[in-house]
Order: sequence, then C-alpha cells, then structure tokens
Amino acid sequence: MARIRILPEVLSNKIAAGEVVERPASVVKELVENSIDAGADRIVVEVGNGGRRLIRVADNGSGMARDDALLALERYATSKIRRDEDLFAIRTLGFRGEALPSIASVSRFILATRRPEDEAGTEIEIAGGKIESVREVGVPPGTMITVRDLFFNTPARRKFMKTVATEMGHIGDGLAGLALGHPQIHFELRHNERLLRRWSRTGDAAERVAAVLGAALRRDLMPMALETEAATVGGWVAAPRVNRRTSHGVHIFVNGRHVRDRTVLHAVLQGYRERLMKGQYPVVVCRLTVPADEVDVNVHPAKHEVRFVRQQQVHGAVAGAVHAALVSGVRPAGLNPGEPDNRLRALSASHREMDGVAESAPEFNRPSEPTERAAGGMTAKSGMTFQSPATGKRPAPPGTIHPEPVPPQPSLWSGGQFAHLKLIGQFRRTYIICESDAGLVLIDQHAAHERIYFEQLRKRSQTRNAAAQALLIPETLELDFREAAALEAMREAFARVGFDIEPFGGNAFIIRSVPDFLATAELGPMIREIIEGALAAGVKPEPGVLQEESLKIMACHGAIRARQTLATAQIQRLLAQLDECENPSHCPHGRPTWIRWSEQALEKAFGRRV
Ligand code: ADP
Ligand code: MG
Repeated sequence: MARIRILPEVLSNKIAAGEVVERPASVVKELVENSIDAGADRIVVEVGNGGRRLIRVADNGSGMARDDALLALERYATSKIRRDEDLFAIRTLGFRGEALPSIASVSRFILATRRPEDEAGTEIEIAGGKIESVREVGVPPGTMITVRDLFFNTPARRKFMKTVATEMGHIGDGLAGLALGHPQIHFELRHNERLLRRWSRTGDAAERVAAVLGAALRRDLMPMALETEAATVGGWVAAPRVNRRTSHGVHIFVNGRHVRDRTVLHAVLQGYRERLMKGQYPVVVCRLTVPADEVDVNVHPAKHEVRFVRQQQVHGAVAGAVHAALVSGVRPAGLNPGEPDNRLRALSASHREMDGVAESAPEFNRPSEPTERAAGGMTAKSGMTFQSPATGKRPAPPGTIHPEPVPPQPSLWSGGQFAHLKLIGQFRRTYIICESDAGLVLIDQHAAHERIYFEQLRKRSQTRNAAAQALLIPETLELDFREAAALEAMREAFARVGFDIEPFGGNAFIIRSVPDFLATAELGPMIREIIEGALAAGVKPEPGVLQEESLKIMACHGAIRARQTLATAQIQRLLAQLDECENPSHCPHGRPTWIRWSEQALEKAFGRRV
C-alpha cells in the first residue's frame, strides 16, 4: 500500500468543493450568504449561460481589508466563529470558512473588495485554486466576486451540469429563498444581461412574500404566529386550494437560514393534514426562531439541514401553528359564492414591475411556478371548470361536544348548506347529484360519510377518554429492526391512547388491549402504517396524532361504500349530518367531498357562451 500523506492544499480544496459546490446554484447561495453576513442591503447576482460561463455577486456590505481578503481564501479561514462554543451559537449564515477557497479551486475566480473606510480596494485573481495576481484597484465599497468557467478543471462535475433552464431554475429558487428571508435587502438577478428578478427593499415581510411567491397568491395567504418555549413560529400559510405537486412551495427558515428540514416539513404537512390529498403539497413560509444553542446547523457542508435539540417540541409547535392559522384564517367552505377574501389585500401591490420582468424573460423557468390547478380549480378535458371546495373548516357552532351514538344519529335539519340542497338523485350508485343556487353539485358518498363517521368517532373518543379494552385473543406483530425500534420508542404514546403493546422477544410485539373506540379495525396493518409515517418524518407521533390516525382508518372501514344504492331518506340524513361536521368539505384523507359546476361553466361547455 502507498504511504499515507497529507494532501496538498489545492487538492483538499477541490475535494471540499465537491461537497460545498454541487452546481452553479450552490455558488450563488454561498456568495449571497456571505454578502448577507457582511451586512449588505443591496445584492446583485449576474449569471451567464446558466452559470457555466459566469456567476458574479456584487454587494455593498462591509468589504475586506487586503490581508483579510487574502486570508478569506484559505481553507477554514472565517471571521465568523472563534471558539468551540461559537459553533453551538451560530448567528451568521456562513461559519465553516470553506466556501471561498472551494469555489476558487474549481473556477477562474476574482475577488474585488473595499472597506468604506479604505482609499483603495484589493483585487485577487485565482485560477483553479492558484493565486495569479494581487493588486490595488479602485472599486466601490463592498465586495464583488466573479466566478468564470465553473468546474473547468473538474470535467466530471462539469458533465453533471444540466441545461441552462434547469440550472437557472435552481439559482432562481435558491435566491428566492434567500430573498424571502431577507426583505430588508434589495436583490437583483440577471441572466445573459437581462433582468429576471428584482425584489426591492421593504420593511414589510408580507410584501416580500407576495413579491417572491407571486401576486396571485396574495389573497390566499394567512399569517401564522405561535410562541412556545421551544420555538417561535411565524410566517404564512396558503389556503389548501393553492397546492403543488412537490414540497418546493414550503419555505422553511430556521433562525433566518433557509433550510430543507424533513421534521419541519412533516410538521407543516401535519398541520394541513385533512386539507390536502396525498401527493399535494401546500405553499408555506415558515419562520422558526429557536435558541441558537438548541439547533445544530453544522450537519452538512452545504448547511441546508439542521437538527433540533428539542425536535419533538419544535415539531409540535410548527404543526400547531399551521393548523391554527388554517382554522382561524379560512372562510367557510361555501357551496354558494362567498365574499372575496380581503384580509390579505393589505399585502402591497407595489411589485407590478416584477410581473413585467418575468414576462420579458421566458427562459427563466421556475419549476415551482403555480400550476393551473393551484390557481383555482382543475380543468377537465371537456373544458369545464371543476370547482373544488374552497378550504378547510367552518367555525364550530358553540357547544358542539355532545357525545353521539355511532351509527348515525337521526337527522337534525339544522338549516345548513348541504341540507338545503335540492336532491336530484344518485349517479352510478356512487355520487349524489344536487342542485344549488350556485350550480350543480356532486357529492362523493363514501368521502362524505367517511368525514361524518370520522368526526363522530372523534367526539366519542374524546368523551370516553380512550378507555382500553382487552383483546380476547392478543395479537402478535412481527416488525423489522427499524420499525421495532420506532415502536419501542412510541410505546408510551400508544399506551396513553389505550393500546397495551408489549415486547415479545426479537422484533415481535404482542398487542393485549386497544382503545375501545377501535374495536373493529385491523390492528397490524394500522400500527405498521402509523410507525412508517413516524419513521418517514423522523419523529414520534403525539398521542393525539396517533389517535387521529387510528380514527381515520376506522372511519374508512366503517363508511358507506361507493356502488351502494341509497334511499332518499338516507341521502337526506347524510346531507344533514354533513352540515354538522366541522370540516364537511374534505374526507379525513383530504379528498374533497363535493365538487360543483357553476351555471356559467355549463353554458360555456355547451357553447351557449364564449
Ligand atoms: P464563511 O462564510 O464560512 O466564514 P467563506 O469561505 O464563505 O467562509 O468566507 C470566508 C470569510 O471571508 C468570511 O468569514 C468573511 O470574513 C469573508 N467574506 C466572504 N465574503 C465576503 C463579503 N461578500 N463581504 C465581506 N467579507 C466577506
Ligand atoms: Mg460563507
């Protein structure tokens, strides 16, 4: 075997570059983060050919003295942390001291910088990690870093670069994330000499959100605010009808840092839980503030992952904040056209310029741009517009907690919207067809009954306080190692809702009792589903969530099926019970319970109007 030797610095920088500099967007992110850390309030990013030819970031921040500028290009040179303790109380975006040397080792790199108090600035030129020249120059105060021919000396990396549009998408998304988190900074993004985005400085964070995420979103945003001991949660949630097919619309900030954290993401999704279907993701800006010594940002060189000391509490705070914002901010799921939502009109309209800019730059494809569906309804082949239920839940009528018997109670005819629908009939023994003032309404009988049944079960489980009921024949459960470890950790939470689950040697468990409201469900698959969900999220579900998951599964089993003939009286009872629901518009899994065609949509489809 060859002898062990210390790598030459240029080579070790190149290796570090492999972790820090994945693609042009990572260069932009690192440079812009440095500008933010330097206190800039104006940052201009210029890109040539998707970042292959050119990446330039200019700021009006603190600048650097000549010696500091030279030092900044050495590995592990940073002005941001000094001592071990600092690593656990990081307040700046950078701290590893790796970005500049890494980028300089895989490009042709020019750093030009001047402190406001210095007469002359410094320019340092580096190619492939080797300093070519250092000279005095006249430059404006601040720092400008120019990166040309990225990866020119690492052909393998170069090959991984995607099309210009793809790389620009990543750059634009990354910058949008930073801009969302720093409304007090003016940002510009140019590509091949054209202005793509300009976000003017603002003191109003909501204004920046609307500017970045799109003016169309404005009236669907609801503010979120919750303070707990472990975390303060702020930001905005969008109404569930604005949804995406990926999680890219969920922007998470932890102490000002834009991160992709699966725990927080999971908590956000949980906050929406019944309001979105499988595969739908919401649009959210979640700003989390946690004590600096309770979060570890040094998990990955690119710093987009974090770890929380009080993971469970942070998760709970986020889920709670999202849920509360949705419940309080959402207007009733009206079957008749409602008032337009004016609450967020207040978000400034000063960003018209942005729309114009976006139009003039068609090559800039943000992958997470709102889809047709996100903008309102879905468009069917016929050209008719399906109107989905607006959003979540109606304020519950006062004093609703009467325990109700579980199979359905007699109808209440309380004068609700569903009960007032004029019944036309049943289609394919699956959908209930009705007429309303606002058009033709179809109700999915299974989804609707699932919702009704779910809420009845939930009330019952609350009143009975989840008493345990011993199983006549205990059931055994064989799990794999991961699942077994997860279940072990969750046993206490299970116990609190009425499950008695004991280890049974190896990875087997024995279930001795279950909550009494759960007597009919299939246990094994259900518990496995709950464990899998928890594993995917990296957190233990709270007892409340465990209970709700179990209820959903039960409701699904107990509800009337599709392809079942219903008598008129049964349908009428179903409609009346739907009115009693807190969230009548979605089944527990988030599917809509009803859809509607307006008369205009029908007329359009029949060519009666254009
Ligand atoms: P880090 O950000 O982790 O400290 P970098 O390699 O990104 O490491 O930067 C090294 C150092 O260079 C920073 O700590 C900072 O002192 C200095 N620096 C980098 N960019 C700028 C800038 N735009 N303005 C002022 N100083 C900068
Ligand atoms: Mg940095």
